[in-house]
Amino acid sequence: MDGIKIDYYDPETSTVHEIKKTNKMELAHEWQVKYYLYVLWKNGIQEPKGLLEYPKLKERKDLELQEKDIEEINRIRQEIDQIISSEKAPVKNKKSICRKCSYHDFCWVDEV
Ligand code: SF4
Repeated sequence: MDGIKIDYYDPETSTVHEIKKTNKMELAHEWQVKYYLYVLWKNGIQEPKGLLEYPKLKERKDLELQEKDIEEINRIRQEIDQIISSEKAPVKNKKSICRKCSYHDFCWVDEV
């Protein structure tokens, strides 16, 4: 739906389940789930909930979409739209997170 791929969605409780096989909890994981909740909310799901699960750590984290999250996601989307509509791509800035990023090959295809 709208470019997202949810691991598992429980329609009875309106809960998105996202399972992370890593042994480290990261803020990026929370924003990933919040973005899923945002898309569901945009598509008419009332008060969707999220559950981040870390089987290796035996940890779980409940997430809800707050008003401030919606504002932040809208702000980021505006930034993305500006980048897409500008004639020049932003200057490349490789960071340590790039190594594990799904878009690595798109961003750094011409790098040795
Ligand atoms: S690989 Fe590209 S999209 Fe991924 S973090 Fe690095 S710059 Fe961002």
